[in-house]
Formats: sequence, structure tokens, C-alpha cells
Amino acid sequence: MTDQFGRTINYMRVSVTDRCNLRCVYCMPPEGVPCLSHRNILTYDEITRICRTGAGLGISRIKLTGGEPLVRRGLPDLLGMIRKIPGIEQVTLTTNGILLKDKINELVSNGLNTVNISIDSPDPDRYEKITRGGRLEDALAGLEAALSCTGLGVRVNCVPMQETPPEDIIGLASLAEDRELDVRFIEMMPIGLGKNFGMISGSRIRSLLEDRFGSAGLCAENRGNGPAVYVRFPGFKGRIGFIDALSHQFCGTCNRVRLTSEGYLKSCLQYETGVDLRQLLRNGAADEEVKNEMLKAIHEKPACHQFAGKGEACGSGGQLLETRDMSQIGG
Ligand code: SAM
Ligand code: SF4
Repeated sequence: MTDQFGRTINYMRVSVTDRCNLRCVYCMPPEGVPCLSHRNILTYDEITRICRTGAGLGISRIKLTGGEPLVRRGLPDLLGMIRKIPGIEQVTLTTNGILLKDKINELVSNGLNTVNISIDSPDPDRYEKITRGGRLEDALAGLEAALSCTGLGVRVNCVPMQETPPEDIIGLASLAEDRELDVRFIEMMPIGLGKNFGMISGSRIRSLLEDRFGSAGLCAENRGNGPAVYVRFPGFKGRIGFIDALSHQFCGTCNRVRLTSEGYLKSCLQYETGVDLRQLLRNGAADEEVKNEMLKAIHEKPACHQFAGKGEACGSGGQLLETRDMSQIGG
């Protein structure tokens, strides 16, 4: 299915909860966000129904996210339910990794294709500060458990802040030196608390890493569902990826929509534009109606975000700006 600008939409990020066991400084306030009651969160059957309708429209890849998706009970069951939908080719997961070690086997046996683990510092003290209390060793245990699963794609995601020291960037990139994994650096986006933190551009990180590891070669093949650009440093087993949402806006090829845990289908990260699918489902809408509302929301997907103040130039005026935090959207 394509939107009004001819972009093919085949990827849906599904947030299964707004709760989290960490409080990353750029994502959640120390006290957390007011939690939605269970009643207001989509059930697994409702999520599966929306994914099935999406699959009928051409969605082939689903990412499970949160909050922290692994704090919701029975997540591997949901994964299995989605994986069985005809047309869904890939189900991936984004997690902070804290609970991953104990769940990875069940996730993989239910069909998990790739796991992204968010780790913003390789230093236990700085990790604890950034996450407000998280233990790096738990996240690393999750990472090692994931790496031990044959056939599972493994990525580490880091969102550097202006104050992130170069040794943290180098330390995280080094994880890809002797392991088959991708380490990706994501530019901080000015959403929710992220507005309070400056970003480090992907090009700045790349030059820092080239000073340390030598010239990087561009990797030709496309990996993942998004706009990451991958390079490989000499002697590295794994790759380094850059997701430069601000410095290299890639809205022209955006292929995604987002489903929040309360069932709102969002067509762009920065805007509220979308449709309340929970209300439709709970009002007894037929499949055809759900499908048409999804199509309409996708058709109206805005042209681009205006994080760098370029919105008018690419025709995104007039839409309401998103007020949710990143933990409520799912990244
Ligand atoms: N709890 C899981 C995790 O941390 O991976 C999943 C949800 S989290 C909201 C998904 C991703 O969004 C994480 O990699 C996180 O670092 C990233 N994120 C949160 N706020 C961000 C921001 N303002 N800009 C860019 N990425 C952000
Ligand atoms: Fe939780 Fe992920 Fe946000 Fe950190 S980035 S507070 S782990 S939702």
C-alpha cells in the first residue's frame, strides 16, 4: 500500500506497553509516566487483529516495542500469534535487554527474527546514571544470550547525548569488533524529554571512530527495515550503523507507521495524525471498516517531520504536533 506521496508502507512498530523498568534520562521522567490502566491497553487479540488487517494491506514487518516490551506478561505468545499471520515475514523486538536473558529462548522459538538491544554506555556507572538505576551487567547478559541464538539478528542501539564521552562511543562500537552484530548510533530526536538533550551527529561519530579504527567501508546491502547506513571498519566482524534522522532527513523513503499501546495508529513520529483503532475495535467495527480507516490514516501520512525546522519546505504544515513521550510511542 502507498500513501499520498507514493511511499510504500510495509512496516509497523507496535508498542505493547507504556511501562518500563528503566528511566532513561532522555526518554522517561524519574517518576515514570502516568500508566495507562490495563483496560485501556490493547489486548493481544486486538493487536493481532490489527496486524492481520495491516498484513492484508501490505505490512510485512512488525517491530514489538514499548515502554519496555518484556515487562508485559506473555510477550512471546503475542510474538508467536503475529508471526503466524499470513503475509508477516518478519517480527523483531526492541528492548533494553534487562529481562532478555530469561526470555530469549521462548522468543526465538516463537519466531523472533531480530532483536535490538538499547545500550547507551559501556561503562557501568554511566549506564546506571543514564538509565537511572539500570545494571549494565543485566543488559550485557541479555546481549550475550541473544548472540548465542543461531540465526537471530542482533543489534545494539545507542542514542548518544552531547555529554556522551568519546570512550563510550568507541567502547560500544568495539562490541562489533569480534562479534557478528550491528552497533547503531541514532541521532537524538527532539521528542518529549529528548528536547532537553543535544545530539551528536552521525558524521561526527563516524569521524571519531575512523580516527580510532581506520577508514570505514560502506556496506552495500540493505539491512533492517529502516534508513540506517552501515559501514565496516577494518578487521571488524560486525557493522556500525548510523540513523541520522536529523542531519540526513529520510522522510522521502519512510516506510513505517506506529501503533501505540492504547491502539492509536500514528502515521508520523512527529505528528498526532492517525486514527483511534481501539475505539473502532471496541465499538464492534467490521474488518472492512478497520481496513478502510487504516488505509485512510496511511494515505494521509505527512510528507516529513520538521525536527530541523524544514517542515514548510516539504509541505507538512497544519498537522498537530505529537505530545506523547517517546516511551509512549515506542521509538
Ligand atoms: N525500552 C525499549 C528500548 O529501550 O529499546 C523500547 C522502547 S524505546 C522508546 C525504543 C528506542 O527509542 C530506544 O532505542 C531509545 O533509545 C530510543 N529513543 C528514546 N527517546 C529517543 C529520542 N528522543 N531520540 C531518539 N531515540 C530515542
Ligand atoms: Fe525505558 Fe526504553 Fe525509554 Fe529507556 S529508552 S526509559 S528503556 S522505554
